[in-house]
Amino acid sequence: MDNTNAKQWDNDHFLHPWEGMDTLGKNNRTLVEGASGIHVVSDEGNKLIDGPGGMWCTQIGYGREEMAEAMADQARQLAYFSPFSNTNSTAARFAREIVKRAPGDLNQVFFTTGGSTAVDTALRFVQFRNNLLGLPEKKIIISRQKAYHGSTYLAASVSGKERDRLWLDKANELTHFLPDVNPLYRAQNQSIQDFLNEKVADLENAIQTLGPDKVAAFIAEPILASGGVIVPPEGYHKRCLEVCRRNDVLYISDEVVTAFGRLGHWFASKEVFGIEPDIITCAKGLTSGYSPMGAAIISDRLIEDVAGQDATFSNGYTYSGHPVSAAAGLKSMEIIEQESLLEHVQLMTPIFQNRLRELSEISLVTDTRGMGLMGCVQCSETGDAQDDLKRDYQLGAMIDAECQKRGLILRPIVNMCVFSPPLIINEAEIHRMFDILKAGLLAVL
Ligand code: PLP
Repeated sequence: MDNTNAKQWDNDHFLHPWEGMDTLGKNNRTLVEGASGIHVVSDEGNKLIDGPGGMWCTQIGYGREEMAEAMADQARQLAYFSPFSNTNSTAARFAREIVKRAPGDLNQVFFTTGGSTAVDTALRFVQFRNNLLGLPEKKIIISRQKAYHGSTYLAASVSGKERDRLWLDKANELTHFLPDVNPLYRAQNQSIQDFLNEKVADLENAIQTLGPDKVAAFIAEPILASGGVIVPPEGYHKRCLEVCRRNDVLYISDEVVTAFGRLGHWFASKEVFGIEPDIITCAKGLTSGYSPMGAAIISDRLIEDVAGQDATFSNGYTYSGHPVSAAAGLKSMEIIEQESLLEHVQLMTPIFQNRLRELSEISLVTDTRGMGLMGCVQCSETGDAQDDLKRDYQLGAMIDAECQKRGLILRPIVNMCVFSPPLIINEAEIHRMFDILKAGLLAVL
């Protein structure tokens, strides 16, 4: 097939996520034509390490024959069937395998088309439950500045990245945002313990001010991913859950990025942060990016609140429980297990995080942070971490461009670059990745 004009077609017809209107039709996006392991290959034949792991999702890496076979077998046997009044055994099996690995009594899986629809489903379920419990006033969702929960109307409404709120309407009457939980911006001389207390108090005060009878749920990513890999102070999630429990507020843990191995466990909520939330949302690593799918995993306790009532949860998708996506998810899970990828991530984490921290020696770098195989390097031309909040840098894009020349693709976000490579990355590849990143940072300097 002749694809020589693909870049032109892309500029002329393909509207991308976060399309900038000033550059519309004038982009020079890298055209990725193939991939294998941790590498993608451009149309010009350049082999690049996939720093962001697609979009935080390509856990088992690219080009897996056994994935292609599992998906093709499923497509041959049953490519699709409506999930509304009937079902398919592959999705039913996948639901069972997911809940085996999920914490606590999270035993009910609502399959969606991706992360946004998983968050949307979780929020709509909370509204549904409170309506059925006779609590129609209890609807406010508390979220946090810099959170990202998706692009459907409700999921975007609980997303707290300022720049994303500029030109689009939001369901503001349903939401409340807590201040930034990034310890980097704590007051001078404030200890981490005091900062933690302040952040927990922010939640408690918001619930008291808005009224516990008005607040339905708190939604939080264990680590704010697209907000710049913000790791809250230790103990934060546990104490926030306690606040929620005291005030009859539900806790939704948005694990769209952190589930399925990114932090070395199936789910991060329990194993890493010690909490059993009421709902977990997940997507991305659920199928390792081989096919779109998400899920809202709901606790038995919440289901018991509504089970048996004369009401329908009128929410769902043509592709809920899509058999080919479920087949991809089952095979990906099997590969993660067979290749001990969770243990592998735990082994690689210190190597990855140490190399990341070493970058702080470069004067352009104002912060390095991360956990597991998630990392962020934040930069400022003035070298001042406070200053870089105020100015709009293109530094991320410049660093990405320098790294691409050297064989590494990154995800630039304003003055930051974030990365989350496929979980299969080995020690030598981690060193190569950070060697290139260092060279890219020095080239921008
Ligand atoms: N929640 C989190 C934490 C995310 O990072 C994302 C996407 O990056 C989403 C939800 C939305 O997922 P999707 O893009 O699959 O709709």
